[in-house]
Amino acid sequence: MTKEFPQFERCIRFASLTDTGMRRKNNQDSLNSLVSSDETFWRQRGHLFLVADGMGAHAAGELASKLAADSIPHYYSKDLDSEPVVALRQAIIEANNIIFQRGQANLEFQGMGTTCSILLLLPEGAIVAHVGDSRIYRLRNGQLDQLSFDHSLVWEMQAAGRVSAEAAEMHLPKNIITRSLGPNRSVQIDLEGPFPIFPGDVYLLCSDGLTGPISDQQIGTILGCMPPEEATRTLIDMANLRGGPDNISVTVVQVDHPPVAQSDRDSADNNASKGLPIAWIAAAIFSFLAIALPFLVPDDPIYAIPFVIGAIVAVIVAILQALDHGSEDTTVMQPVKMLGEAPHRSYDCNPSINTAENFANMATELKQTAKQMELEVEWQTYDSMMERAREAMSNHDLKNSILHYCQGISFLYAAFKNRNTAEQTSDSHVDLL
Ligand code: CA
Repeated sequence: MTKEFPQFERCIRFASLTDTGMRRKNNQDSLNSLVSSDETFWRQRGHLFLVADGMGAHAAGELASKLAADSIPHYYSKDLDSEPVVALRQAIIEANNIIFQRGQANLEFQGMGTTCSILLLLPEGAIVAHVGDSRIYRLRNGQLDQLSFDHSLVWEMQAAGRVSAEAAEMHLPKNIITRSLGPNRSVQIDLEGPFPIFPGDVYLLCSDGLTGPISDQQIGTILGCMPPEEATRTLIDMANLRGGPDNISVTVVQVDHPPVAQSDRDSADNNASKGLPIAWIAAAIFSFLAIALPFLVPDDPIYAIPFVIGAIVAVIVAILQALDHGSEDTTVMQPVKMLGEAPHRSYDCNPSINTAENFANMATELKQTAKQMELEVEWQTYDSMMERAREAMSNHDLKNSILHYCQGISFLYAAFKNRNTAEQTSDSHVDLL
């Protein structure tokens, strides 16, 4: 058991950050994670990551998201008798009850609610549990898959076939959500998975403060080019550079150790390929001897009889084994019972010259603005970042080129942020094209 997951604690790297953004006074988002610290708990409960985006007047939104972020990991980790999916679902129902009761008990908090998106990484695969319009994505081999369905008016109307994707994006308000934890006595929860987990997979949990200002393609490109710590920082900086209209929360989880989890189908494939057809080999040898012996000992062909019998027995054994193997395969190869219908949307996010040039333009544009604003910037450091980006680009290393351009963008953003902090104004922001 220990050998199978020798590095279970180190098999993932993750980073989490939450930011108030440029326009809001309070941060109503909450993040939490529960990373197993021993192998037994990993096998029982895996690793849990959560994002919640609260809504409600005054402090209600903050309270709602915090209640979800605190209570769900608590109840999930306490209930060790149930299967992980059952325990998680029950924990979310408990959180809904807690938020609803607090809302009922205090007029100030009445009707408060929160989105909640949870990623579980388990030995048997990844599970997503989800209510609202926060999101969970997975990046694998350059493809970004959205594993959660947005419970928003835009997505629900499209799913119902009432509007086209273009019309929904153009004409419907984007901030109306159709489900959340807290406002009602009961809650409908989406469950997705289990999805096989592979080394190199990158998962992202985020609130709509990130996905509003930044496109899915840009998000996927950044996830694919930067390690979790830098990707988290860069994504938040980019959202703020686009005006930061809302609170922004990001958790990036990268799977390093192979493999964290295989699906039952993968195991079945491995099992099916195991074992040599020894009975067939024996049958071939016996048959050869049975045919050859009458020629080698023509005076007494009776010597061949035991080999004829041996060949017949070996063939029967081989056929029985094949039938038995086949029935085993049918049992193991039965598809894993999948919950949900994810991925709901997919995007090609492989680094391209086009995307690298877009990031290069952003960095240049930002430099011009910083110069105009006479910001205090160590230009040598910025210029060396740009130099490395261009060098990587000329070596056709698009991934590193994008990495260095993004580092340059974050570097300059820090200077804008310092100026904002010094001036104590939320209006002096930069809007990148
Ligand atoms: Ca929000």
